[in-house]
Amino acid sequence: MQKEYKLSREILPDVYKITLPVPGKRPGPVNVYLFKGRIVTLIDTGTAQTAGLLQKALAEHDLGFADIGRIIVTHGHPEHCGAAKKIVNAGRAKVAAHAEDVVSIEKGMDVSTGRYRSFLKLTGVPPSTGMMLRLLFFLFKYMADNCGVDLVMREGDEMEIGKYRAKIIGTPGHTKGSVCIYLEKEKALFCGDTLIEHITPNAFVMLDEKEPLPVRLSQDEFYGSLEKIKILCPSMIYSAHGKDIPNIEQIIEGYKKAFAERQEKVLSIILAGEKNVYRIARLLFPEIGGWRLPLEIFLSISEAYTNIQVLHKERKVFLNVINGLLEVTHAQEKGSVQ
Ligand SMILES: [Zn+2]
Repeated sequence: MQKEYKLSREILPDVYKITLPVPGKRPGPVNVYLFKGRIVTLIDTGTAQTAGLLQKALAEHDLGFADIGRIIVTHGHPEHCGAAKKIVNAGRAKVAAHAEDVVSIEKGMDVSTGRYRSFLKLTGVPPSTGMMLRLLFFLFKYMADNCGVDLVMREGDEMEIGKYRAKIIGTPGHTKGSVCIYLEKEKALFCGDTLIEHITPNAFVMLDEKEPLPVRLSQDEFYGSLEKIKILCPSMIYSAHGKDIPNIEQIIEGYKKAFAERQEKVLSIILAGEKNVYRIARLLFPEIGGWRLPLEIFLSISEAYTNIQVLHKERKVFLNVINGLLEVTHAQEKGSVQ
């Protein structure tokens, strides 16, 4: 008789989906994937706080943290790598991540807090909100123990994962170093946060340690990554949040439609005369706010800014830094300077 598991579900032979809670409503609980085999592998780990629950889920398979041989981190956000250190400390697990997210996993953030602070100042975040965002970074640190990365993954790397052969697909956009793990033979894609069934993933603003304003266009990179995934034609996609995704075309079309609508909305706010990125973000998402929601506020600024970057590339808006504040001007506005 087949064994019943309360805390995991078999999605492929000897591959199990374990869902762990994450604070806040969106994006919701995180899915961790267990691959049994010669090298017992986990894709992502959940937060430091759910390490105990992950242990219980593994125990149903007669496994403990000491049995884990490898952890593949899809990207450096805390609910994906938060328990890695605890697993490593218990035994022999090696942590693998893309080169561009190594710093986030090892230090908790991709760039210094000073760089975040100066970016937020440029976007016009009021001092009180700046305080909330500091609380957010504190929360991030709380959710994830910093952990060293042993294996730096790059595009096209191949590795053994449980009983399967996997290929690493670099899919920047949500973060600089987001990856998908593709089982070519089975046409199964483990996509991290690059595709989520119930929401459009946030293309996080890609701050640069050396530049005052981000140079990389997160939204462009995100949509480029989606095209790359589409070409693979996976027959099933296993996301880090929410349900499995059987139809890639449908979800990408939905994302593109939402993106076009958002671009229109941002442009109309700018056309109405709003120049300040923080206020554009607040108008874009009027439903969010309150002292308990620093993450939502940061995400809204990130979303507004990365949309503005695309509008700037398309020469629909102009950007100028005036008195230490970034000003966004609609290209149609009289007397606007590029
Ligand atoms: Zn994420």
